[in-house]
Amino acid sequence: MSYLTEWQHTGREVSVAGLARSGAAAVRLLRAHGVPVYASDAGSGPEVHAVHAALAGAQDDDLTLELGGHDLARVARSAALVLSPGIPPSAAVVRAALEAGVPVLAEAQLGLDTMSRVPYIAVTGTNGKTTTTGLLEHLMRAAGRDGVAAGNIGTPLCEIAARSEWPAWLAVELSSFQLHDCPALRPAVGVLTNLAPDHLDRYPDLASYYADKARLFAGATDASCWVSNLDDRDSRRMIANVPGRHLTFTVMAGITADAWLDHTTGQLMLDGHELLPRAALCLLGDHNVANALAAVLALHATGVGRQELAAGLRSFEPIPHRLEPVRVVDDVLWINDSKATNVASTRVALEAMDRPYVLLLGGRHKGEPYVSLAASLRERAVAVIAFGEAGQLIQGDLGGAVRVLPAGDFDEVMATARAVAPRGGAVLLSPACSSYDMFANYEERGATFRRIVEGW
Ligand code: ADP
Repeated sequence: MSYLTEWQHTGREVSVAGLARSGAAAVRLLRAHGVPVYASDAGSGPEVHAVHAALAGAQDDDLTLELGGHDLARVARSAALVLSPGIPPSAAVVRAALEAGVPVLAEAQLGLDTMSRVPYIAVTGTNGKTTTTGLLEHLMRAAGRDGVAAGNIGTPLCEIAARSEWPAWLAVELSSFQLHDCPALRPAVGVLTNLAPDHLDRYPDLASYYADKARLFAGATDASCWVSNLDDRDSRRMIANVPGRHLTFTVMAGITADAWLDHTTGQLMLDGHELLPRAALCLLGDHNVANALAAVLALHATGVGRQELAAGLRSFEPIPHRLEPVRVVDDVLWINDSKATNVASTRVALEAMDRPYVLLLGGRHKGEPYVSLAASLRERAVAVIAFGEAGQLIQGDLGGAVRVLPAGDFDEVMATARAVAPRGGAVLLSPACSSYDMFANYEERGATFRRIVEGW
């Protein structure tokens, strides 16, 4: 019996924590099925206010909304607690539910459970989730399959579940927080892109973070199918004893797998056959080749043919703010990688650069030193423009390795970069910092970069 059907039968109230887009979608789905709802959010910012106003307008006696806190006693009396993706497992509202024996369920799990007849490919990992999920959606559509990307990538699962028609397939991006409360995953294929230390501000230790990632495999049977990264030791370890069919990809020179990059011929390979030339893939960096191979393997396992996959890869365009080439100005390519908000993802971007470049680095410091970028910078960087709150730290960490130029506001950052960018080279916005000292979020930072470049 589905969760919704069970709750309909009991008539008991279900709590929803978090009132941004996912929480609102869960509320609407539950109310559309007649389940009484108590929905609350500890915050009271503009986004939750807007959601509150939209839901409150429905004048529904079986819906109680609360902003600025959670009524923990009420949550403890609920049939279940449905969690929005931003709420960590350690939050007081989650603890209150668990202590009272109330089942806790991710919003994504509720959506998937409701659409139980729709097959899905689930994607998790530390990096590359959104790119791989976006690739899956694009490749499915290019192959004539009615596929939709959902979950952490943007559209909540409950929003799709509430539609009158469901897609034939789903590509579902799942973060570690979402996985924590998805006890009943049964993906047609599960993809683990890679594993690396991350989110240590939100987890007590690495083992707890990895344990949440491993929940993707909790329901594994011999009939399961998994795609994983042969180049990543932690992924290999995690997946080693998981039941099911295993498919692997690699981008390391001289190694083959179910899908791989042949460095000698420059071909992407699938199942021992050429798929397409690397040059035909409009994505920068071997990490993106890895993402493409992961997506290709998962779809091939569900019956999409090689030719359709190759055609889809040719027409895939980079996802905004992720090593996204924006425009060539005066023979200089301007690249927006605003999503690189930590040192590790900036390093990946630097390794993807195949020409001399100027790096725009800075914003709100997140605690990690920048010195580890020095070796990659020495290869092709002409200069680093250091900006934002982290500017001085960057100057101190990297000044000995590369020319570092300070800049104030973002207009000055862009003008300085333009003045020193080498012809035939690039300017890369890959800040390794959060954007909150100067922008609302990384999207606004990337959009500002684009607007200025397009205005020249
Ligand atoms: P996620 O959704 O997991 O955060 P994205 O696809 O949004 O990943 O990519 C975010 C950043 O992570 C990219 O800008 C890039 O720097 C880095 N990245 C993407 N794919 C990979 C990969 N396969 N391996 C390592 N780093 C990656």
